[in-house]
Amino acid sequence: MTTATSPQAFWLAGRPATGDDTLEVTSPWDGRTVGTASVPTPEQTEEAVAAAAAVADEFAATPAYVRAAALDHVVRRLGERAEEIARLISAENGKPMKWARIEVARCTSVFRWAADEARRFNGGTAQRLDADAGGAGRLALTRRIPYGPVLGIAPFNFPLNLCAHKVAPALAAGAPIILKPAPATPLSALLLGELLAETELPAGSWSVLPVPNEAMPPLVQDPRLPIISFTGSVPVGWSIRDSVPRKRVTLELGGNGAAIVLADYASDADLDWAAQRIATFSNYQGGQSCISVQRVIADTAVYDRLLPRLISAVESLVTGDPADDATDVGPLVSEDAARRVESWVEEATAAGAKVLTGGRRQGASYQPTVLEGVPHDAKVACEEVFGPVLSVTRVDGEEAAFAAANDSVFGLQAGLFTHDLQAAFRAHRALEVGGVIVGDVPSYRADQMPYGGVKASGVGREGVRFAMEDYTYERVMVLTGL
Ligand code: NAD
Repeated sequence: MTTATSPQAFWLAGRPATGDDTLEVTSPWDGRTVGTASVPTPEQTEEAVAAAAAVADEFAATPAYVRAAALDHVVRRLGERAEEIARLISAENGKPMKWARIEVARCTSVFRWAADEARRFNGGTAQRLDADAGGAGRLALTRRIPYGPVLGIAPFNFPLNLCAHKVAPALAAGAPIILKPAPATPLSALLLGELLAETELPAGSWSVLPVPNEAMPPLVQDPRLPIISFTGSVPVGWSIRDSVPRKRVTLELGGNGAAIVLADYASDADLDWAAQRIATFSNYQGGQSCISVQRVIADTAVYDRLLPRLISAVESLVTGDPADDATDVGPLVSEDAARRVESWVEEATAAGAKVLTGGRRQGASYQPTVLEGVPHDAKVACEEVFGPVLSVTRVDGEEAAFAAANDSVFGLQAGLFTHDLQAAFRAHRALEVGGVIVGDVPSYRADQMPYGGVKASGVGREGVRFAMEDYTYERVMVLTGL
């Protein structure tokens, strides 16, 4: 258990180690020290990379049942320690306990899927090649081979589960992983390391290293790490990708997700559901989710009936201490983050936007806020707010709604409230996003589906199976004379 007095060891090639420096982790809610993480020296980081490279072939050849058993072990231990882990997530991240518990459950599901996929992921079937004359008597077999060790870089907003999205598929596919958690929230990742250390995974197959940002470039450039899986902000993500054009880089970046409410979604029950879902998922994690709802685009036929419901649903959210079971919305990750959100709302109101509810900051907390009449070029509309701020826009008709949703540099996911199946198919074709969630907000993600963005929001797909495919390639063997 982490205490303020004993620095938490990091995990170097599967064993605990400490470096010369430490990183203090403070609660965004009350500023208390939650724990201290030891930081690896450049020599220790090098040791972890060398160990990952050295074990790569052996790990790729480890039988699937051994990898699956290790992942199953993590599933069991996450279950046994769920409440303690949720408290740690909540303390270091400021996330309300109800959301921290959901994060632990999601992480459990990621590891469960990874264990299942490890058992299934065994290459393709044999193919006769005799459809062409040159292939007569030949047979092709494929096997999926890991490219090599993965460098997984994770952000602060889901400090456990976004690490799981990197670690679990890598281990399932037989690829070693070096995990680099966010500086604000390393403790959840280090705790995940405790669970991995209880398994029989080979030494060197995994490390959890809270490397400082300024020490990251050599790691990013290191040719022994051919795969980079990055989740985080747009500028950092694309600059990493641009700096290593020959590597396979998956980027899961930011967004300004839209929830579209079409004219047919008009019964009282429909609008109650849409309002409640939008209110919840524009504010969960204080709006600090890449797929939270930032923009509501509602048809003029339903707009005037949706708006009061939305305001009332937002105002009924309980804000406050993240440790309190009743709290829906806690603080942002830091006071600086809340000040940035405050300044963006001020910019929008100075340009004519109206605050319908919220709009006030206290310390690191920002009130759940709804804005109307936001100018198109205000930051709260066109950039990623990453705070509890929602802009509502009235449109006339489906085409205008889709055009408004696409009027963004981002393209992660969109939510579409409609009962019209044809409209859903038209949206699926028209919306420039990685996923369209029909009947709900854009904030839905499941580990068995491909997840990721287009445009500035990223490249590549996660979802356990899709990440495993990303970390591996098909190697063909052709048998001749059969
Ligand atoms: P960030 O980009 O500041 O940091 C992400 C990670 O990158 C951290 O571990 C950080 O230490 C590391 N990093 C920073 N500079 C680096 C460098 N030069 N080289 C290598 N690594 C470096 O992002 P954040 O503030 O922690 O997270 C918020 C962002 O993450 C938001 O934009 C959010 O939308 C995005 N996000 C995206 C998804 C998704 O799945 N698409 C999920 C969650 C968060």
